[in-house]
Amino acid sequence: MRLIFIGPPGVGKGTQAKLVKEYFQIVHLSTGDILRKEISRGSNLGNKAKSFIDRGHLVPDNELLKIMSKRLNEKDVKKGFLLDGYPRTIPQAQGLDVFLHQKNQKIDAVISIELDNKNIIKRLSSRRSCEKCGNITNLLFSLPKMEGVCDKCDGKLLQRSDDSEDVIIERLEVYNKQTSPLLTYYQKKEIIKKVDGSGNIDNVYKIILKVLK
Ligand SMILES: [Zn+2]
Repeated sequence: MRLIFIGPPGVGKGTQAKLVKEYFQIVHLSTGDILRKEISRGSNLGNKAKSFIDRGHLVPDNELLKIMSKRLNEKDVKKGFLLDGYPRTIPQAQGLDVFLHQKNQKIDAVISIELDNKNIIKRLSSRRSCEKCGNITNLLFSLPKMEGVCDKCDGKLLQRSDDSEDVIIERLEVYNKQTSPLLTYYQKKEIIKKVDGSGNIDNVYKIILKVLK
């Protein structure tokens, strides 16, 4: 099974990716992790990527594809993979298709977890993190025993600055702008599976398994 996961911030993509990866016994490939690992290894590819990041640039599509291809050629990926955070652009998607085609492989499905902006804002702006231990809690799903106080360490619960409404709206705009061409690209290939992300973890997980059968 070869999957791509797409979803806006706050939709629970990471949680679902973990469940689905375990179900199918495939590897969860997060671009961020792969990039960080390659850089810490100090390989030629990693050093080159680092030189772009250090200058505040994005790693160019062709360089990123080299790093992703290298990872996708490793043994543990043979049974399948779940891509998270890649591809983000049409050239990246095309590059990935060419790479897989050469290996006689293809993407089986693109899971797009969807939730309207109103609900995303509600979810993200209900998150609080403990200033002492970093524990994250969501007031929508579980209220702390004492208001404003961390259950684990009695630290103060605060809202992270990137969870404020203005910042969330900005993040969503960036996300939608970046993702909509990708969705169209995979829609044309008829491999996109839209999943309603409004339910709880278990509901959404069941829908994902259903659309993959
Ligand atoms: Zn705490």
